[in-house]
Amino acid sequence: MFPISEGQFGVFSVSFYVLNPSTKTYENLMRWSKTLHATLRDDPQEAEITSHKLLIRAGLVHKVSGGLYTFTPLGLRVLHKVENIVREEMDRAGAQEILMPALQPIELWDTSGRASQMGASMFRLKDRQDRTMVLGPTHEEVVTDYITHMVNSYRQLPCTVYQIQTKFRDEIRPRFGLMRAKEFIMKDAYSFDVSLEAADASYQAMYDAYVRIFERCGVTAKPVEADPGTMGGNHSHEFMVLAPSGEDGVLYCHECGYAANQERAERKTNGSEFPNKAGAPEDVATPGAHTVEEAAKAVGVDPRQIVKSLVYLADGKPVMAIVQGTREINECKLRRALGCTELVLADDATTAKYAGPVGSIGPVGVKISVYADTGLKDANDVVTGANKAGFHTKHVSLDNVSITAWEDLATVIAGDSCPKCGGTLSIERGIEVGHVFKLGTKYTKAFNTTFLDAERKTNIVIMGCYGIGVTRTMQAVVEQNFDKDGIVWPASVSPFQVALLPLDAAKDENCRAVAERLEKELEANGIDVFIDDREERPGVKFKDADLIGFTVRVVVGTRSLEKGGVEVHSRKTGETYVVPIEGALAAIKEALAE
Ligand code: ATP
Ligand code: MG
Repeated sequence: MFPISEGQFGVFSVSFYVLNPSTKTYENLMRWSKTLHATLRDDPQEAEITSHKLLIRAGLVHKVSGGLYTFTPLGLRVLHKVENIVREEMDRAGAQEILMPALQPIELWDTSGRASQMGASMFRLKDRQDRTMVLGPTHEEVVTDYITHMVNSYRQLPCTVYQIQTKFRDEIRPRFGLMRAKEFIMKDAYSFDVSLEAADASYQAMYDAYVRIFERCGVTAKPVEADPGTMGGNHSHEFMVLAPSGEDGVLYCHECGYAANQERAERKTNGSEFPNKAGAPEDVATPGAHTVEEAAKAVGVDPRQIVKSLVYLADGKPVMAIVQGTREINECKLRRALGCTELVLADDATTAKYAGPVGSIGPVGVKISVYADTGLKDANDVVTGANKAGFHTKHVSLDNVSITAWEDLATVIAGDSCPKCGGTLSIERGIEVGHVFKLGTKYTKAFNTTFLDAERKTNIVIMGCYGIGVTRTMQAVVEQNFDKDGIVWPASVSPFQVALLPLDAAKDENCRAVAERLEKELEANGIDVFIDDREERPGVKFKDADLIGFTVRVVVGTRSLEKGGVEVHSRKTGETYVVPIEGALAAIKEALAE
């Protein structure tokens, strides 16, 4: 690949970053005095998590407004390095790079049926002809339209295409810096195959590429079973970077390795803890009791004996879901069990219409479908709302309730039993950096994406989609690689691999000569180097090098030369050693390889 462009800015000649680093024609040497780079002493007020604070304090990103950031020259280098790792691994997996427009006509979203489903999270605007356009939150529609026009024979398949591109989402709560932004960079890939088996192979190739990508970026990302959500399809994995700041819960079985997002996680149940009949149903006055705890207290039972009942509208149709009182209903699972696209909790009036006053509802006698969590199986002595204000019914047997379906509906929590082996599940927090889906024919059916097979029969193409949050990954690297002094960049994505600090260059001719020689040597060896040539005290330079997190720090000063050469410091191990000038390059390479 060629440099995008070359230009002359003022007195410096600037060669812009080249997309493929192997050509090495981009600037791999930068002097602090020639940049606008600045670090901050204090944590920015709005930053809640460490990686967000550090990216801003190190001067790698600059906040424009909520969820919108400028990447500074150093920050952009990190971003490009992450992108290049992604690009190399996508290419290696046989995917082909394309670029689709961020601006998309709404008609494509009408075709897939997702125009309404995306709701307010999709930015919409009008062009001058008053046509509705959207700023793409993702590209299944655009890519399927493209493939529909390109593919007609089985001979053209399999085919996987990808792009690295800006996405727009009007998030309810943009926060945590690059983690949940309104505008962010995603790598999105899409596979097209002739059969389910062939699609499995394409999925596996992407899955394997993801494992390599995150490893090369220096993050530990664990693949976990995930809920396919609005993507449709039936099978998906998320790649989770484990960190206490993560927004997702990840359930693990340490015995068999089962791992799943809390949205998806299942559990083994033994049915109800209250299987024995204890009397005839009896209404009990529970005035003012609205919560499970209040009802349990009023009836005089354990909250586990209460049945929690909620009315939902599933694609507009009222249904009731019930679960043990101390558990939560998992709406992702309920949506899947119902096979609906839109699921909303009914408002008080709707709940009253189909069951009773909120706080006193139950499944007994209702005319709508009741979906029960399998943890309530064989419940013969439980307490439900009586569907009249201020009353609950005790000694209810669910045998006397018409249950439409028994489903796994409860949110799984730590301590529950593993669905695979019965072991005990534990929970950790995770940041979703990537997601792979088997989509089946959800989009290709809607767009009529077909191919002729060897018998000249028409078939629908099988599709998969694969996303990586590139900017989110950049920040996730920081979330897993920092210490009290700042960021600790892995060499593969460090803004510059080496920070060179010439300390006494102004007054010591020898120092200057050694530093210049080292600069040239590093540059010639393809190691990128940031030279802190500011007129600052050594302490300031050391602090900034630690904060920004360059993988290796090299100091050339009168003192280091007296000690026998240059000082090489590994940011990760904290080791510092003085090496003779001739051995400096080898020592730096060794420190970078650690
Ligand atoms: P989340 O559940 O975190 O909202 P998602 O499931 O909506 O993410 P996908 O549609 O699967 O995300 O998008 C693919 C990838 O894009 C995600 O794995 C994530 O890394 C990244 N991503 C999604 N939303 C954002 C955002 N608002 N800011 C930054 N990265 C994002
Ligand atoms: Mg996702």
